Amino acid sequence: MAVAESNPHASRPWWRRLTTVRARTTAAATLIVGLALGLAAAGLVVLLARSLVQHIDAVAEARAEDVAGLVRQGSLPRTLSVGGDDGTLTEVVDDSGRIVAATAGLDVNAPFADFRPTGSETPARTVDDLPFARGDTFRVVALRASGAEGPVTVYVATSMEPVEDTISILTQALAIGAPALLGLVALTTWVFVGRALRPVDAIGAEADVISERSLHRRVPVPAADDEVSRLASTMNRMLDRLEASAVRQRRFVADASHELQSPLAAARADLEVALTHPDRTDWRETAGELLDANRRMERLVRDLLFLARVDAGAARPPAVPVDLDDVVLSEAAGIRWDRSVDGSDGHTRVDTSHVSAAAVCGRRDDLVRAVRNLIDNAARYAASAVHIELTSDDGTATLIVADDGPGIADVDRERVFERFGRLDDSRGRHAGGTGLGLAIAKEIIEAHGGTIRVESVSRGARFVVTLPSA
Ligand code: ADP
Repeated sequence: MAVAESNPHASRPWWRRLTTVRARTTAAATLIVGLALGLAAAGLVVLLARSLVQHIDAVAEARAEDVAGLVRQGSLPRTLSVGGDDGTLTEVVDDSGRIVAATAGLDVNAPFADFRPTGSETPARTVDDLPFARGDTFRVVALRASGAEGPVTVYVATSMEPVEDTISILTQALAIGAPALLGLVALTTWVFVGRALRPVDAIGAEADVISERSLHRRVPVPAADDEVSRLASTMNRMLDRLEASAVRQRRFVADASHELQSPLAAARADLEVALTHPDRTDWRETAGELLDANRRMERLVRDLLFLARVDAGAARPPAVPVDLDDVVLSEAAGIRWDRSVDGSDGHTRVDTSHVSAAAVCGRRDDLVRAVRNLIDNAARYAASAVHIELTSDDGTATLIVADDGPGIADVDRERVFERFGRLDDSRGRHAGGTGLGLAIAKEIIEAHGGTIRVESVSRGARFVVTLPSA
C-alpha cells in the first residue's frame, strides 16, 4: 500500500501555527526580552539624566561659591564675567529683591528665582520661565552669602539644553535599537525553535503511517543527542516491543491453528478409512481414537482460552490464603489415581513425603492448574519416580517437582516455558500435552509474585517454584 496519508501537521492553516510551541516560545522570548529592554532603557535614561543634572548642579555650586567669596570680600563687581566654559549665568540679589550684580550682558531686572536657601544647603531647582529665556529650561542653584552691605542670595542658572539634547539622542537611539534587537530576538527564536522542532514533524509524519501491518518501520532519530532524539529513540524501542509482541502473537496463532489442525486431520483420516471399509472397521476403536482427538482439542482450546484471558488482562477472582500443601497433595493423589485407571504404567512412584505445610496468598484455581501442569509433566516423563517437595522458609514457599525421566537440556531451560515450546515434537504431543502447560504455569506463578525455573540435575528434570508465603 502506498503511503497515502499526508502529514496532518504540514497542512495546518497558518493561523493554527500561532498556537504551536514555536509561536508560543517566540512570543514568550520576545515578551520577556521586550520587558527587560524597556526597563533597562527607561532606567538608563533616568540615571543618565540624573547624573547629568547632578554634574550641572555641582558646576553651578562651584560658581556660586566663587561669587559668594567675592561678596564676603566686598569685591563683588556690578557686572560678573560669563562663567567660563560652563556657560553659567549668575545673579546676586539682596534681601529686598534688588539685583546687586549679574552676569555681563544679562538683561534682567527680576530675580531668577524666588527660593532661598535655608541653613547651609544649596538648593537647586528646575525653572522653565526665566525672564531672559522664556521657553527654555534652566537649572538654578541658590547660595546665601553675607557682605558689607548685608545678606544676599547668589543664583547660578545653567541651561538644561545639553542635557535635553543628550537624553533626546539616547532616546532616539533606544527607540530604533530596542525594537531592532527585539526583532532579532524574535527571528532567532523562531528560526532556532523551528529548526529544533523540525524532527518532531518528521517523527509525527512517520508515526502517522505506522500501522499494525508496518510495525517494522521506525521514526527518524535526529543526530543531536537532545530531548527530541531521546523521545524518538524511546518511540523506536516501543515499536521494537510492539513488533516483537505482534510477531509472537502471529506465531502463537499459527502454532495454535497447527495444533488444532493435527487432531482434526487425524480424526478425519480415521473416519475416512472407517467409512471406506465399514465392514473391516473396529468401530469401538475408531470411536476411542476420535474421543482421544476430541480430548486433545478440548484441552488445547481450554488452555488457549486461559492464555487469551490472561493476555487480555481479564479480572481474576480476588486472592485468598491457600494451603499449597493441600493443593500439591491432592494433585499428586490425582495423578496416582489417573495413572492407575489408565493403566499406562503402574510402577511410577510419587513421593510426597517431603511436602510440609505452606500457605500462600493467591487464587486457588490458578494455583491448582499450575501445580497440576508440573506434576502431570513429571508423571508423564518420569521413568519410575516423581519426587515432590514443599517447604516454607523466610517468607517463601518453595515447591520442587522432580522426576527421573529424560530431563531438559541446559539450552532448553528457557524455551520450555514458551508457548508451544516443545523440545521435541514427538515427545510432548504423543504424550498428550498441548505444549502450553509450562507457559501457563509460568504465567500463574509470576502473577502470584513467584518464580519458576528448571534446575540442572544429573538425571531427570527438576522444576523449582517459589511463591511468597501468606
Ligand atoms: P506439553 O504439554 O507438551 O508437556 P509443556 O509446556 O508442559 O507442554 O512442556 C513443554 C515441553 O517441555 C514439553 O513438550 C517437553 O518437551 C518438556 N518438558 C516439560 N516437562 C518435562 C519433564 N518433566 N521432563 C522432560 N521434559 C519436560
